[in-house]
Amino acid sequence: MAKTFSRADKAIEDYTIETFHPEDKVLLEIRKRAEKEGLPDIHVGPMDGLHLEVIARVAGAKKIVEIGILAGYSGVCLARALPEDGKLFCMEYDPKHAEVSRVSFEKAGLEKKVTILVGPALDNLPKIEKEGPFDLVFIDADKPSYPAYLNWAAQNLRVGGVVLGDNTFSGGRVADPANEKDPARGATVKAIRRFNRELATDTRFRTTIIPTGEGLTFGVKIAD
Ligand code: SAH
Ligand code: MG
Repeated sequence: MAKTFSRADKAIEDYTIETFHPEDKVLLEIRKRAEKEGLPDIHVGPMDGLHLEVIARVAGAKKIVEIGILAGYSGVCLARALPEDGKLFCMEYDPKHAEVSRVSFEKAGLEKKVTILVGPALDNLPKIEKEGPFDLVFIDADKPSYPAYLNWAAQNLRVGGVVLGDNTFSGGRVADPANEKDPARGATVKAIRRFNRELATDTRFRTTIIPTGEGLTFGVKIAD
């Protein structure tokens, strides 16, 4: 019988964190400072941050785009994977989040590699196209826009480049299409289901989904 696809239990999670030490002082300080600044506690989990760094290293990423940076937690994880001349382009809607992130990149000693563009990502993504093609695009902003962000990523990733989408289990709601009609969360569930479906069927990509607590859709571009 095939092994099951499921989320880890608490004992496994504790063991994993004790063994792999995903969160160092720099990342812990970001979480603490973000809380003090009143930002929502919606950063990637420590192990997810480590996944991002390792995936970016495997991809040999020199040019990364992150859509939705909050306090720079996942951004620092991604930027750590960059070589000396690597670049992380960050899209953030909220000027306060952008400022908290700027401090995070500075404290991490990564500010020279990072450019933050403030405003709606769909307005700012076209402005960086001339820097492409990119090696990795991490999507973690407003969920209803995921399909639009994917469309941009598909056009601006090199073959061999990686697209990652966070929170793609939609808090567990993704499995039931009836959740698309939920008055509060329907738009999110619908967009995430479409995002996963498109990546699963688009012949330009080969895609899986890693069963992190949140769900991390993980595609590689295989053709233009
Ligand atoms: N990637 C971060 C968490 C991001 S939270 C981490 O894991 O550490 C989502 C972020 O997306 C928030 O900071 C929010 O302000 C931003 N956001 C929401 N809508 C956006 C938009 N249209 N364009 C750019 N950023 C947006
Ligand atoms: Mg997220």
